[in-house]
Amino acid sequence: MARARYVRNVDSLTQLSDRERRQLRVVADKYAFRANDYYLNLIDWSDPDDPIRRIIVPCTGELQAFGALDASDEETNYVAPGCQHKYPHTALLVCTQICGAFCRFCFRKRLFMDSNDEAVVNLDPGIDYIRKHTAITNVLLTGGDPLMLSTRRLESILRRLRTIPHVGIIRIGSKIPAFNPYRILDDPELIAALSRYSTREKRIYVMTHFNVPQEVTQVALRAVNRLLKAGVILANQTPLLRGINDRPETLAELIRTLSFAGVPPYYFFQCRPTEGNLPFALTMVEAYRLLESAKKKVSGLAKRARLVMSHASGKIELVGLTRTRMYLKYHRARNHEDEGRFLSFKRDDNAYWLDDLVPADHHPGKARDATLHSSHFLSRD
Ligand code: SF4
Repeated sequence: MARARYVRNVDSLTQLSDRERRQLRVVADKYAFRANDYYLNLIDWSDPDDPIRRIIVPCTGELQAFGALDASDEETNYVAPGCQHKYPHTALLVCTQICGAFCRFCFRKRLFMDSNDEAVVNLDPGIDYIRKHTAITNVLLTGGDPLMLSTRRLESILRRLRTIPHVGIIRIGSKIPAFNPYRILDDPELIAALSRYSTREKRIYVMTHFNVPQEVTQVALRAVNRLLKAGVILANQTPLLRGINDRPETLAELIRTLSFAGVPPYYFFQCRPTEGNLPFALTMVEAYRLLESAKKKVSGLAKRARLVMSHASGKIELVGLTRTRMYLKYHRARNHEDEGRFLSFKRDDNAYWLDDLVPADHHPGKARDATLHSSHFLSRD
């Protein structure tokens, strides 16, 4: 099975000085730390700004006040324990609270807190809900990382979902190909289960979370290849992150390498204003320019990704920027009447999130911590 050895205490990071470890203990007490030796070995410890290091090693900047623990109000999406249903055709099953390591910028870091009970062992009520709601054609297994479940348990979830005729696509959101590819390489039963339930008519998609090119190792590529050979479709999604993948060359290399290997990009995410995420957040203008600049350096399927904000009111795409204005569009919307709605705002180079552009009572989602700007307008085509 998985060869990785897990590390849960910052005191085990002997590459850091005593002083650094002391400082980081305070951060890890607030937002859980978890790593593994495979992933830690990718770090160049001589570089304090190494991107892999920034992804999993705590930093004191996380203690700065910013955002909310549940920045997209996911708590309002639950229709059964462990089951979220926000958009008509898609349901989410939050099936574990564990990941191969913990990304410091995780938008679900609340799941790793003792007080949280969103991830459930008994998914029966959620699966029953999906069975009764025939509009649901897509089910996303999420968490946490579903590939951290035992193969037996994952197989049981896949088997039950495949008895529901209206469920076509099963998506598995996973950073295991980056965090611990041996989990895939060392378990033929996992591959057999994925192959069994990714059929000619109804595929399983694994949505990988590669953030930087350094994660796309030869071992990771072997795991990717194993999944592809099992008949699984792959696509990558990543937030755009300060100090991690915020150089156009880095991002271009990531999407070029992955698309060559059969993992074209799907979504690029605006970093959510989740507590602890200030060191990683890019403004909307920075993120838009970054992705546009990276896209100029790649071709073909590498270009297909969208930059979106997973806002409480819907998935909002950043579609354009001029000297004076910013243009957004609802790609998916919580309220049906917002579907496809086009939004135009006075350009604000300091805005991180929709709530920084528009007062709370002007959009359907809750707008906690909103910064109000006087000149904006909404228009619908
Ligand atoms: S893999 Fe995803 S869910 Fe897990 S810590 Fe990273 S961002 Fe969070």
